[in-house]
Amino acid sequence: MSKAIILGGSLGGLTTALFLREGGCSVTVYERSSTPLVGLGAGIVLNPATVRYFTRSKVFDVKAMSTSAHWLRYLDRSSRVVAEQPCAYRFSSYNAIYRELYAAFGTDTYLLGEAGIAFQQTKTTVNVQLGSGRMDSCDLLVCADGIRSTARTHLLPETPMNYAGYVAWRGIVDENMVTPNVLGALSDAITYCLLPNSHMLVYPIPVADSKSRKMRPSLNWLWYRNVPAGPPLANLLTDRAGVLRDVSLGAGAVQEKNIAALHQDANHQLPQLLAELVLATNQPFIQAVMDCEVSRMAFGRVCLIGDAAFVARPHAAAGTAKAAEDGWQLAQAIQTSPGDVVAALQRWEPAQVALGRQVLARTREAGRRAQVDNTWRIGDPLPFGLHSIGDSTML
Ligand SMILES: Cc1cc2nc3c(=O)[nH]c(=O)nc-3n(C[C@H](O)[C@H](O)[C@H](O)COP(=O)(O)OP(=O)(O)OC[C@H]3O[C@@H](n4cnc5c(N)ncnc54)[C@H](O)[C@@H]3O)c2cc1C
Repeated sequence: MSKAIILGGSLGGLTTALFLREGGCSVTVYERSSTPLVGLGAGIVLNPATVRYFTRSKVFDVKAMSTSAHWLRYLDRSSRVVAEQPCAYRFSSYNAIYRELYAAFGTDTYLLGEAGIAFQQTKTTVNVQLGSGRMDSCDLLVCADGIRSTARTHLLPETPMNYAGYVAWRGIVDENMVTPNVLGALSDAITYCLLPNSHMLVYPIPVADSKSRKMRPSLNWLWYRNVPAGPPLANLLTDRAGVLRDVSLGAGAVQEKNIAALHQDANHQLPQLLAELVLATNQPFIQAVMDCEVSRMAFGRVCLIGDAAFVARPHAAAGTAKAAEDGWQLAQAIQTSPGDVVAALQRWEPAQVALGRQVLARTREAGRRAQVDNTWRIGDPLPFGLHSIGDSTML
């Protein structure tokens, strides 16, 4: 039995941990955050790869953590539906998925408040050093430490992180907080509005209540807006305490003056239905859209997965799916090369690098069409999908 250590216990790390454990590995997850990861991210468009652990193990019914939409709608500036076609997507939220993965893995070997800071490998083992002073060793080290991966910086220091030139303003609104008019217009649909060098989308999600097992029906929106790098971006990413963040500002951290400007722009630029939704949002938050491409994912007994490897722009709605697919394929490779982790990683790597490149290229293209060229047309099918457009369909 191989011993695996996973750095990063978010959706990618946890899914990989579960698959590796299912395949007979002993697995320890070290997560930097000192508390379980509530409140990170928001809506997630599901792909079969994202929820493969649940559909295979049947430990949790995917339908109970997700909601569906049967229509793709485009609105014009006067809130009129100008294109409508059937679709079959399921949506969930970060918290809902994380909660069930965390429960499935258990807390015995999921260690919070432990950040990986360094590792060295020999021919037979990897020694891992944690920020707390703890040392551990393993046969396989999986680095699932996300967009700002310490492991990537260590293994591939020259890899650039590219700002795409736009941010996603995001919000989640409890369905009770919007008027029946807004709710009715947006129900059972994923709704898009194309604007000059900008676009907005809305879809329904269940938000996992932190205190009960209940899910609260909510609307999740994303408004992609071009913001030049330099002072305008720095202003937006500076939080209420005056600290400049590098990628995102969570709920409650965005400066009041920037929220006021968002509201003003919403009133001037969005269809009234969508402006109402933005104004009804308690604490909008911001993610700068980044991308990153790695040349390698396997390094002897160490590998990068998910956002620690390729960071794709969100337009394919496949980031979590890609992280989960990296983990699933890794577990398959380890199982088919018992006792030879290095050979397993060598076999695993080419397809995952190709997948990362393919998703990245597709999302760059979608971003260019929507934010730069204005060639994303009303009624166009969505670029959602992992291996190819369309594979996010789930009935
Ligand atoms: C606007 C936007 C919308 C999106 N929408 C979707 C969508 O609809 N569907 C979808 O599938 N994806 C979506 N994504 C992408 C998705 O959020 C990410 O791709 C996904 O969360 C990556 O998962 P991960 O586990 O690789 O990394 P992360 O979720 O970033 O997790 C990394 C973890 O590692 C921990 N960590 C960091 N450093 C260390 C360390 N040194 N030691 C230990 N732990 C560490 C962090 O605390 C964190 O918990 C979206 C992204 C954005 C920006």
